[in-house]
Amino acid sequence: MATTTIANISGQNYIGNKLSVTGKITYKTYNPELQEENSIPFYEASDNEINEAVSLASKAFDSYKTFSGKKKAEFLNKIADEILNLGDALVTTYCSETGLPEGRAVGERTRTIFQLRSFAELVSSGSWVEASIDTGNPDRTPMPKPDLRRMNIPLGPIVVFGASNFPLAYSTAGGDTAAALAAGCPVIVKSHPMHAGTGELVASAIIKAAKETGMPDGVFSNLNSSGIEVGQKLAEHAQIKAIGFTGSIKGGRALFDIASRRKTPIPVFAEMGSINPVIVLPDALKTRGEELAKTYANSITLGTGQFCTNPGLILGIESDALDNFINHLSDEIVKINPTCMLHPQIKKAYHLNKEKILSEKQVSIKTTYKQDIANENYASQTLATVSGEDFIQNANLHEEVFGPFSLIVKCKDKGELEKAISSLDGQLTGTILGNNLEISEYNYLLSLLNNKVGRIIFNGVPTGVEVCPSMVHGGPYPSSTDSRFSAVGTSSIKRWVRPFSYQNWPNELLPDELKNENSLGILRLVNNKLTDQPI
Ligand code: NAP
Repeated sequence: MATTTIANISGQNYIGNKLSVTGKITYKTYNPELQEENSIPFYEASDNEINEAVSLASKAFDSYKTFSGKKKAEFLNKIADEILNLGDALVTTYCSETGLPEGRAVGERTRTIFQLRSFAELVSSGSWVEASIDTGNPDRTPMPKPDLRRMNIPLGPIVVFGASNFPLAYSTAGGDTAAALAAGCPVIVKSHPMHAGTGELVASAIIKAAKETGMPDGVFSNLNSSGIEVGQKLAEHAQIKAIGFTGSIKGGRALFDIASRRKTPIPVFAEMGSINPVIVLPDALKTRGEELAKTYANSITLGTGQFCTNPGLILGIESDALDNFINHLSDEIVKINPTCMLHPQIKKAYHLNKEKILSEKQVSIKTTYKQDIANENYASQTLATVSGEDFIQNANLHEEVFGPFSLIVKCKDKGELEKAISSLDGQLTGTILGNNLEISEYNYLLSLLNNKVGRIIFNGVPTGVEVCPSMVHGGPYPSSTDSRFSAVGTSSIKRWVRPFSYQNWPNELLPDELKNENSLGILRLVNNKLTDQPI
C-alpha cells in the first residue's frame, strides 16, 4: 500500500513530560482523500506506560488541585498559543488524517483556541466554584447553627477519549480536556487512532505549555492505541476518577458499564448518538418550503454528515406542501458534490447502517446521489421516506446513520406526529420549523419534544454548536449518559468537580474562595444572597 509522510511526528506516547515507547504494537493513520496510509507508525501504549501515566497524574493532582485560577489560566492560554505555534504542520497533518478540507481544520483550530481561552477566563475570574456561605449562629436555640461554607473542588485524574469527528475541538486539547484542566484535574488522553499524528502534535503543545508555566509532570499524558484495550484499562484503573467520551453508543455504553462495575464506580460523561428530529409544521411548509429545503440539503451534507447534531430525521404531516418540500429537498441534495468521510471504517459503517434502514420493507428511497464517485471513501447522500405508523412500530428506523442521510416520516395527522415523537429515544437536539402563529397549536407536541432533547431549535438547523455558557450539548440517554450536564460551553466544567463543605473551619485555614474577606472578589451566595462583598 502507498504511504504519505506527514509532519515530524515521533509516533510515541507522552507519559507526562517525556516521550516514551516500550510497547511493540504499531499502527498507522490513513489518508482517505489519497486512499493511502500515512507513513508514521504509532506505538500503542504498554501496560507499564498506562500505569506510569496514571501514577504521574495522581501525584500531579496533589499540587495541581491547589493552583490558583490565574495560574491555571496561564497554562490554558499557553496551550492555545502553542497550538497556534504549530502552524501549518497541524493543518496539513489534520487534513492528511481525516479527508476534511483545510478550511474545516482552520475553523476547528479557532474553536479549540476559543474554548481554551474561555476556560482560562472562567477560572481566572473564579466565580465558577459556586461558593456558598451560611454563617454560624452560636446563640441559636435549641441548637447553635454551625458555620458552613461550600465550593466545587476537582475530582482527580480524568481520562478523555478523543472524538473521531472533531480531531481538534473534541480531542487532545478539546472541550473535555480544557474543562478538566480548568477544574484542576490532570488529564490522560486516549488518543483517537484515526488522527494519532494530529493528537501527538497537539499533545506536544500541551507539554510545552505545561513546562513553561511550571505545571507538575503528569498533569497531561497522551496514550496511543489502535484497539479498545488501552481505553478499557484506563477506565478500570483505581486512580482514575472520571471519564469523558465522544463517539458511538456502543463505545460509550461499554465504558459506562466498565466504570459502573469497578469496586469504586466513577462517572462517565459520554456524548453519543442522536438522530436530531426536525419537525416541519404545515404553514411553514406552505410559505417557505423551498427555502427550508435548500437549508436542509446543506445541513444534512455538512461535514459529510459526520456531526452528532446532523438532522437524521424529518417529521411532517402528509400534505401537498410536505410532498413539495421533499421534492425540493431531493433536488437540492443531489446538486451537492459528495465529500470524503473520515475513514474507510466510518464509510463502511455509513453504508451498512444506511442499507439496514433502506432494507426495511416499509421504507422508500426518495433520492440518492447516483453519479460515479472515483474515491470509495466519498459518501453518497441519501433521503428516504416512511409512514408515521411504520416509523412508530419499527424501532430499527430510529437508529443513527452517521453520515449524509435523513429519513423523512410522513404522519397522517397531528396525533400520529405526537406518537412518533413519543416513540423516540433521548436526543441531543430537536428542531421546530414553523410560523409563529401555528406554534401555539402544537403545545403538546413541544412538551413531548422537551422530554426527549437537550436543546430545542426554532426555525434553524441543529448543526453548528455555539460555544457559550448557555449551550446544552447533551440530552436524555442515549444521546448522553447524564442529561444534567453539557459537553460544550464553560458549564461543562461541572462534570469534573464535586461539592465540598467546610464546617466551623477557622477563617485563615479556608481556601481564598471561602474566606470572609473575599480577596478574589468572586460572586458568592452568602446567607442566601448573591454578592461579591466581604463578610
Ligand atoms: P467509537 O467507535 O465509539 O470510538 C471512540 C473511542 O472510544 C475510540 O478511541 C475507541 O477506541 C474507544 N472505544 C470504542 N469502544 C470502546 C470500548 N468498548 N471500550 C473502550 N474503548 C472503546 O467512535 P468513532 O471511532 O469515533 O466512530 C465510530 C462510529 O461512532 C461512527 O461510525 C459513528 O456511528 C459513531 N460516532 C458518533 C458520534 C456522535 O457524536 N454521535 C461521533 C463520532 C462517532 P479505538 O478506536 O482505539 O478502538
